[in-house]
Amino acid sequence: MESKKVLLCLAHMSGNEMKYIQEAFDTNWVVPLGPNVDGFEDDLEKFIGGKHSVVALSSGTSAIHLALVALGVGHGDEVICQSFTFDASANPVVYQGATPIFIDSEEKTWNMDPNLLEDAIKDRIKKTGKKPKAIIPVYLYGMPAYIDEIMDIANRYEIPVIEDAAEAFGSTYKGQVCGTFGTFGIMSFNGNKMITTSGGGALICPDQKIADRVLYFATQARQPKPYYLHTEIGYNYRMSNICAGIGRGQMTIVDEHLAHHRHLKDVYVEGFKSLDEAVIKVSPESYMDSNYWLNTIFFKNVVDDCPGEPSSEVMKIQNHLASVNIETRPLWKPMHTQPIYKDAPFYGNGVSSRIFPKGLCLPSGPYVTDEDAKRVIEEIKNCL
Ligand SMILES: *Cc1c(COP(=O)(O)O)cnc(C)c1O
Repeated sequence: MESKKVLLCLAHMSGNEMKYIQEAFDTNWVVPLGPNVDGFEDDLEKFIGGKHSVVALSSGTSAIHLALVALGVGHGDEVICQSFTFDASANPVVYQGATPIFIDSEEKTWNMDPNLLEDAIKDRIKKTGKKPKAIIPVYLYGMPAYIDEIMDIANRYEIPVIEDAAEAFGSTYKGQVCGTFGTFGIMSFNGNKMITTSGGGALICPDQKIADRVLYFATQARQPKPYYLHTEIGYNYRMSNICAGIGRGQMTIVDEHLAHHRHLKDVYVEGFKSLDEAVIKVSPESYMDSNYWLNTIFFKNVVDDCPGEPSSEVMKIQNHLASVNIETRPLWKPMHTQPIYKDAPFYGNGVSSRIFPKGLCLPSGPYVTDEDAKRVIEEIKNCL
């Protein structure tokens, strides 16, 4: 018998989504604004603590882009980015004609190393005579970063922070939701994220005034005139009312999703606890509560034998798992090692390049049962 296909993080519906979509059809709100967009934004604002304004957008990438636009990042500017991430974190910097400056990670969270961040800021000021325009830390696989330390440096140099919380929906740091520390925070609702709108994102803004400015750029920067007057370049980045209907339905099940991802972390930790060579990533501090969007495993003893690529032993494990219907994924290949960013300045300590070849993302979504996770564990143990 063919075994069940176990995927990384498949979209999972609450059953309430269709009600909101039906309402949109019944009232003919099949446009990129409407009651579902407003309702979803309200839900998100409550979820993150009620102190911020949220603008629903067409993707997480567009949210990062609009944050940069709102901060006035343009040609010739520099923006500090985390190297260990998905390329969507940094690409919008290039859309604006600016240069990403990549920073390596610290070992504990795999996120932006605060010490390197400060070194880089000092060095950029020395080399270019001006400060970087923004800092984009990431919460990799949902893991909180050392955000107090990062914010402390950012505040001292008065550089705005855009938190890429695309993978960290529901993660908290000292009880505060990731994405609410900086000037902006971004969320993603792509198909395999913690919740989905089939494709979508949102920008967390400090207040309604700034949210209104973001909204203006998201809708072609139209001036308040009876005819179409434009004095700045805008974008078509608003979320559709249909997608927002899916989002409202997803908000009714988000707590269950979070509990499930965190439970699977416990199952994986238990499964590998007797093995010294295979480490499941867990929060390094009691005040960091990851959503465990994707659980990751790190194989300490494999040999890094394919420069710039995952280790051949890790690929062997991935191929074996694929052959028994288990989906896994190598870790993000650091941006400073990507051909598209080969000329970008990089401040490194070797951490991300050392971790990348030796890890895999494990099935972690709502459809993954305890039995599935145990099968994943057994199959990996068979490889070791
Ligand atoms: C998914 C993701 C994004 C982009 O979100 P989209 O909604 O896919 O555009 C940005 N950064 C990180 C770290 C991501 O994982």
